[in-house]
Order: sequence, then C-alpha cells, then structure tokens
Amino acid sequence: MKIEKNISLKKYTTIRIGGNAKVIYFPENTNDLKKLENIFTKSDTLIIGNGSNIVFKDSGYRNDLICLKRLKKSLSIIGSKNIYASAGTSCARLAKYAHNNHISGFEFLHGIPGTIGGSLKMNAGAFGSEIWDLVEFVTVVNSKGKLVKLSKKDFRVSYRKVDMKRHKAFIDVYFKFNKNKKFDKKLLNSFMNKRTSTQPINQWSSGCIFKNPNGKVSASKIIDQAELTVSRVGGIYVSKKHCNYFINDGTGTCKNLEDLIMAIKKDILKQYNIKIEKEVCIY
Ligand SMILES: Cc1cc2nc3c(=O)[nH]c(=O)nc-3n(C[C@H](O)[C@H](O)[C@H](O)COP(=O)(O)OP(=O)(O)OC[C@H]3O[C@@H](n4cnc5c(N)ncnc54)[C@H](O)[C@@H]3O)c2cc1C
Repeated sequence: MKIEKNISLKKYTTIRIGGNAKVIYFPENTNDLKKLENIFTKSDTLIIGNGSNIVFKDSGYRNDLICLKRLKKSLSIIGSKNIYASAGTSCARLAKYAHNNHISGFEFLHGIPGTIGGSLKMNAGAFGSEIWDLVEFVTVVNSKGKLVKLSKKDFRVSYRKVDMKRHKAFIDVYFKFNKNKKFDKKLLNSFMNKRTSTQPINQWSSGCIFKNPNGKVSASKIIDQAELTVSRVGGIYVSKKHCNYFINDGTGTCKNLEDLIMAIKKDILKQYNIKIEKEVCIY
C-alpha cells in the first residue's frame, strides 16, 4: 500500500490549495483496509476521495488521512437490477458504464469529478437527480474498523448530506436500476454539453461553493444578482462563467477562499436576508 508522508495537499484537491498532510494512506484492496483498522477507528481520521469537494487549511492536516481513490476500481452488473461499484471508481466511469450497457438513470453523474465514495458522502447530484436515488446497499467501514453491508434505510440522506456518524467510510455500493426505464442514448452527451457551456470545468475549483438555499432558487443566481462588495481575494476569484464556482489562479490560499466565502455570505445576508450555507468541506 502506498503511504505518503509530509506531502502537499494541493496535489490531492481539485482547487489545488492546502498545506501539508502528516500522512496519507492509499489502500488498494480489502487486505489493506484490514491493515488500517486501527487508523479507521481513530475519531480524527479523515477519508478522502478525489478531493473535488474538499479544501485543506494552509497549515495542513495533522491527523491521519485515508485516500480511497486507489481502491481497486470495479464495476459490474449483478442480475437484472443492480450495478456494483467500488468506492474508488469515478462517477464518470460509472455513468459511461451504465450508458454503454443501455442502462438509464446514471447520466447525471457524468462530469461530476469525484469518486463514488465521495459522492455517496456528499449525496452528489445534478440535473434533478441525486446519487442516493439509485442506492440499494452499501458496504461501509464501521466505527470499529470492520466492513459491514447496510441498506439505504440505515442512512439519513438529504440534499448534499448523509448522516454517517457511526460509520467511517463507504467502500462499495449496489445501485439499483430499472431496466424498463427508457434509455436515451443522447442524454449523457447532452448533460455534458450543458456542463461545459455553463461551468468552468477546466479551471482549478471545488465545484459549487454554496448549497442552494432552497429548491426554488440557486445559490449561483443569488450571487449573480447580488452586488458583491468583493469578488476576488488574493488568488481566489468568483468565476464569471458560473458564480458559485470560485477559481484558484494558481496563487490562491485557503485563507483567501475562506475570506471570499465570508464576504459573499455577508453580502447575501445583508441584501437578501438569506443565510447561504457552504457545500465545500474545509478541514
Ligand atoms: C468542476 C466540478 C464540478 C462539480 N459538479 C458537481 C455536481 O454537479 N454535483 C455535485 O453534487 N457535486 C459536484 N462537484 C463536487 C464534487 O465533485 C462532488 O461532491 C463529489 O461527489 C466529491 O467526490 P470526491 O471523491 O472528490 O470527494 P472528496 O472531495 O475527496 O471528499 C468530499 C467529502 O466526502 C468525504 N469522503 C470522501 N470519500 C469518502 C468515502 N469513501 N467514504 C466516506 N466519506 C468520504 C470527505 O471526507 C469529504 O467530507 C463538482 C466539483 C467540481 C470540481
């Protein structure tokens, strides 16, 4: 198993900011997961996937990190209604796999640059669908460091949030699909085209910084219409293409990001009396 010590966390987040990690473990299989039982049981151990919704402080992360993106990638169709996926598999790969097998319902995941594990934790979603809509069972590492299989009803799931206080990590998942649901072969590309035309997907960001405050209005629309007192702090600025994306120009720091978040929250509260909540996880 690969283990990195005193390594820059910039390399492990899509926004490319953060100090150093004390140690990152990269388990690749069940044996490695077993070896990490004691690390999993520590309350301050943090699990990461592709780092596309996570940012680390400039002072770095002093506790143990376990990155699951090297976990053996595995996708298979089980029987006539399930797709099995391991947590390290990318969302894009799952979406394409379903598409190639003419299974509908997974198209929205194409373009979400995370792992399946991170997407389960964030209840990632797009175009009116969320990943937990598709879940039947998951395997998790529990608080004792052991692998257990649980069903969807064991979790409290809401918009971009899954309550997993008693469990440490998602390891794999059985998605369910409805083979009678009509397959639209154009949908995958159509979603992707919408993304590329409206989101700065090729720049260093963490995707949407704020959650939508409710189902009726998006955080992006609110920010767009607000008179921002600040739209850049140091190397971090609000994207003109999608103003809920904050971009790192290469010189940004976590402090810059936090200051910009604070300033925009303050503007929105003052101008609209709306408290917008952060979606990105800052540690
Ligand atoms: C360009 C861009 C576009 C995006 N578009 C979308 C979008 O359309 N919809 C959307 O919802 N999000 C979007 N995101 C955000 C992000 O891609 C998703 O939240 C993604 O699901 C995060 O997965 P990850 O593997 O990168 O998780 P990470 O960023 O590594 O981690 C996110 C959180 O999950 C936890 N975590 C990670 N892996 C596991 C695991 N196996 N078990 C338990 N906890 C874990 C981490 O501790 C952290 O709290 C976008 C991001 C970018 C950069």
